[in-house]
Amino acid sequence: MRIAMIGTGYVGLVSGACFADFGHHVTCVDKDAGKIAALHRGEIPIFEPGLDALVANNVKAKRLEFTTELAPAVADADAVFIAVGTPSRRGDGHADLTYVYGAAREIAAALKGFTVVVTKSTVPVGTGDEVERLIHEANPQADVVVASNPEFLREGAAIRDFKFPDRIVVGTSDERGRKVLGDIYRPLSLNQAPLMYTARRTAELIKYAANAFLATKITFINEIADLSEKVGADVQEVARGIGLDNRIGSKFLHAGPGFGGSCFPKDTRALVKIAQDHDVQLRIVEAVLGVNDNRKRAMARKVASLSGGNLRGKTVAVLGLTFKPDTDDMREAPSIPIVTGLLDMGARVRAHDPVGMEQARKELPEIEYCDDPYDCVRGADAMVVVTEWVQYRTLDLERLKAELKQPVVIDLRNIYRPEDMAAHGFAYDSVGRAPLP
Ligand code: NAD
Repeated sequence: MRIAMIGTGYVGLVSGACFADFGHHVTCVDKDAGKIAALHRGEIPIFEPGLDALVANNVKAKRLEFTTELAPAVADADAVFIAVGTPSRRGDGHADLTYVYGAAREIAAALKGFTVVVTKSTVPVGTGDEVERLIHEANPQADVVVASNPEFLREGAAIRDFKFPDRIVVGTSDERGRKVLGDIYRPLSLNQAPLMYTARRTAELIKYAANAFLATKITFINEIADLSEKVGADVQEVARGIGLDNRIGSKFLHAGPGFGGSCFPKDTRALVKIAQDHDVQLRIVEAVLGVNDNRKRAMARKVASLSGGNLRGKTVAVLGLTFKPDTDDMREAPSIPIVTGLLDMGARVRAHDPVGMEQARKELPEIEYCDDPYDCVRGADAMVVVTEWVQYRTLDLERLKAELKQPVVIDLRNIYRPEDMAAHGFAYDSVGRAPLP
């Protein structure tokens, strides 16, 4: 199969490289000439474990190419995937479809022969209908099927998620479309991945419903964490106790500072808007958004509270800035409102992140960045763990205590054991675990 991947970001680059690894010929297209030039030099523009080797191997095998020229890539393709961004629209929270519709118009003009155009971007229900209409308007002769194939990969584990997915959702009722997508994903049947065929609008809704459900699960356990703190229970054990029930499942039950990232916030907001446009109120999802928004600044107040109630003139060391470990992605990272909350309370903030500091500088220009965690905590009045990078789990507690001015640690990811922290003489608070008496 010959595939054109329009948009070479987190999803497009990972999907393109994986499709090439399955044996297909893939051309990844992006408007960002700097990104394509970097890829031509063999540099990967994002941090994603394993992606550099996967890209290099498939470029070497001549199955994977990069270009800024959309037209030739589309003309040659059996399937064209749209994997451009669908951020929140400024002001109203709807998904911004400018990039999707822009790509659809460009694709329309370049189509040759039968082609399946596949929306991989997360898009509101009915976007496939509009993509089809735009293509036929721009190119009435086009022999095209427009399908939906939402992507469920997680940054940080993207290659594994793509190659060993829990399911692949293909949204089209057209037989020719089903055949082409079935052939593209056939190599995954060896990995026992169920290929679920459904209607296009259903596929579009599956993606939003999945993300909203996961965001709800996280928010639910976060509220149970707040209650655990008040009643002297341990939310980690509550999560384990409920998660062992197969009907509930143990994943996405880690209490923390609230969800962020490139997908959950914008997708839950967009789902609420889609529902409102159809006169349906998704009250649970609306509540999830409200609870989650409030939570992040509340985490900054938690820091103040363990620091004697006042942060003015104090220095807070923040460990971890990206929205989760193993990515450099700072989009809607909880660290942004937490750090802003600390600054608003008069604190000076120093921060460390293993790979995210370059991206973070754009979002948080007013803080000091440090090259290693011990340097970051040196002389600080408190340390806050915001992202649970594996290297923070194994920090030398004695050395931490010696470097800090005050032995105060607020662990928003519950990576340390309260007993260990107490034994080392720290004032320690975490999420959903009442401080030791
Ligand atoms: P991204 O911002 O990393 O990448 C999008 C790329 O598309 C950019 O490089 C941009 O330059 C390019 N682009 C925009 N218009 C273009 C055009 N007309 N022609 C060529 N290139 C164009 O975005 P992402 O994180 O990869 O997300 C893409 C989509 O996938 C979004 O809808 C997102 O919701 C969805 N998604 C993302 C993830 C994730 O973990 N990041 C997971 C599942 C689904």
